[in-house]
Amino acid sequence: MVEIEPIHNEAKNQSISIDLGIKTFAVMSDGTKAEGPKYSALDRKIRKLQKKLARQPKDSKHRNLTRIRIAKLHNQIADTRKDFLHKLSTKVVSENQAIILEDLNVSEMVKNRKLALVISLQGWREFRTFCEAKSEKFGRDFRAINRWEPTSQICSECEYKWGKLDLKVRSVRCFNCGAEHDRDENAAKNTAHCK
Ligand SMILES: [Zn+2]
Repeated sequence: MVEIEPIHNEAKNQSISIDLGIKTFAVMSDGTKAEGPKYSALDRKIRKLQKKLARQPKDSKHRNLTRIRIAKLHNQIADTRKDFLHKLSTKVVSENQAIILEDLNVSEMVKNRKLALVISLQGWREFRTFCEAKSEKFGRDFRAINRWEPTSQICSECEYKWGKLDLKVRSVRCFNCGAEHDRDENAAKNTAHCK
């Protein structure tokens, strides 16, 4: 007996490569673009509340309320982002047999404020995780190219060079200064330094 793959497992296209960035979340090799959700309004609210928080007396009831409001806004950002990333990764993986993901346009990065950068980092990482998991499920070929590779070889604290890391290594402890780094965040800090 021959096993027939369910119809939804057949990809419409052979391959796609996806370029991740900050302003536009993803640019596909077929020319289509995926704009990410806009967080600037939430970002502004968070900043305002953080200023307020700094002025409020420690252990006060109001300070606690402000903290909760900030946490809720962060959750709101995370939910919106996850929803967007799930939809996009499902579409990309179901339509293509091979998926090549390229992390970030570095030149765009230095212009961005910290929260935007953190959100982007989380978004890229989650998108990669979702695409990887769904590719496995759908029987697709998945590959990620990290354009930060050279910047991931140096400690962003003391500039000690530990050399090339295996792609599987996601966090590093510097041999020289002992700082613990997330691989991508360390690379991002190095990129920001060398503007
Ligand atoms: Zn170091």
